[in-house]
Amino acid sequence: MEISKGVEMLQLDFHGNVIHPILLRDQEMTVLIDTGFPGQIEELCAAMAQVGVSFDELKVIILTHQDIDHIGNLPELLQAGGSNIKVYAHDLDKPYIQGDLSLLKDGHIENPPKGTVDASLEDGQELPYCGGIRIIHTPGHTPGHISLYLKQSKTLIAGDSMYSVDGIIAGIHVPTVLNINEAQLSLKKYLELDIESVVCYHGGLTKGNIKEQIQIVIS
Ligand SMILES: [Zn+2]
Repeated sequence: MEISKGVEMLQLDFHGNVIHPILLRDQEMTVLIDTGFPGQIEELCAAMAQVGVSFDELKVIILTHQDIDHIGNLPELLQAGGSNIKVYAHDLDKPYIQGDLSLLKDGHIENPPKGTVDASLEDGQELPYCGGIRIIHTPGHTPGHISLYLKQSKTLIAGDSMYSVDGIIAGIHVPTVLNINEAQLSLKKYLELDIESVVCYHGGLTKGNIKEQIQIVIS
């Protein structure tokens, strides 16, 4: 589903657990934000094909954090795209994504997905892709969780910093958060932004009254 020009919200269903990776496109490149659960590579491929993107067009993968439903198909994507794909993540989650440390929540999983992170992201950094992407460090869910602000469309890609239900922001998902205080402070960062729409990885798209909705869940 194209939520604004060049911003595609994908929808993958993992045994009833619906998730929303994002594809960003302009004339020059395609960026994928988060990669789905392990084993969803064919579904991801099909979802990309449906919006007219093939794997070899993929130049950049940005991971919002280390959890398994976000890094699940990183190995397969890198295998298909090889050195053409640049992987970005925050420094604090990078060693887990690379397999240097056991995943903080999914450490019990045998042979967890992993892949090399080519470049570290930090708070306030801007990537020049697809109209400009501002990185917001939003720890709490994991130490290196990031959110992305798409400058052109004023879209916030919130990752798992919060979730939504039926188009309404529902707040922090407490059972999966590692540091609730950090998570609350992270949401306050959003109040400084001019946001027209939000995509939560779990819950999908929210439009309208974003600031009011965030204020409600942090108060
Ligand atoms: Zn998640």
